[in-house]
Amino acid sequence: MEADFYLGLDFGGTKLLLGEADSSGRVRYEEKYDSGYMNQREALSFITQSLDDYFAKGRRKPLAMGLGVVGRADSSRGIWFEMDTERKDAVPIAEILSQRYGIACYIDNDVRSAAKAEQRFGFGKNSDNFIYINVGTGIAAGTVSGGKILVGGHYNAGEVGHTHSGIEAGIQCVCGRMDCAEALASGKGLDNCARLYAKRFANTALNIPKEGKVDARDIFRLAQTDELCAFLAAQAARVLANLIMNLVRVSDPDTVVLGGGVVADGFLLPLIKENLNPGTMRYVTNGVVLTRLDPKHIGLIGACTVAMNL
Ligand SMILES: [Zn+2]
Repeated sequence: MEADFYLGLDFGGTKLLLGEADSSGRVRYEEKYDSGYMNQREALSFITQSLDDYFAKGRRKPLAMGLGVVGRADSSRGIWFEMDTERKDAVPIAEILSQRYGIACYIDNDVRSAAKAEQRFGFGKNSDNFIYINVGTGIAAGTVSGGKILVGGHYNAGEVGHTHSGIEAGIQCVCGRMDCAEALASGKGLDNCARLYAKRFANTALNIPKEGKVDARDIFRLAQTDELCAFLAAQAARVLANLIMNLVRVSDPDTVVLGGGVVADGFLLPLIKENLNPGTMRYVTNGVVLTRLDPKHIGLIGACTVAMNL
């Protein structure tokens, strides 16, 4: 029987979600592989091992496969330039995988892939000018302007987490600047802030583990009763509102879509909205909304959308 599905690989840097979706973006099979921290060459070998494992299970051949990868990727030539500034070992991954498996293969950056999913299956169906902001471990955005997604001269557009949060917290960001939005309001940022401000709210009930990260869900769960958590949630909302308003001034969208683990449960959304200036937001006529795509699958649906190579 003819294959009627696309294979997507959503590679976030420490884990790989591999799965199948049909042409309407419905996920019908998925598998997760934990990779841990690895360099780019190791990542390529991890991805091929996972694909070997997938095909060894007798799955049917997909119409095409798509990869959403962390870092800089050139979707037109299928080259994955780097995972981050520490891990750069450019690899023509689309060609390598397509030769190895005899299947057409396409790639893009992971957040741009998610924005493509939003464009095809989400709010983008009704908008040619929207921003998809992913707030997860980090913060990045896919900007669609006039129906086209912004890529940039070095495939690096959308790293909006590395713009100033508007708050002087004194936190050094991984990018070298101080107090970036990502350093304060991402999953990692909330962990940074919990540790920094715990001294000010000494009687907090928040679990701040010595090893590992503070769970954003704990912060939101305790925000009604715990002063530190209320402060952290309010500050993250202010940072994200600043980020949204700054981006709105750049690309003039009618819709701002939020996705990613930190915002997916909807807790922060009303707090963010309280911080939005109506004048700045006057042309964002569809408002700031949560993605309607399953937050757990948006990266995978994005990878499958990349496979569709539209
Ligand atoms: Zn930064």
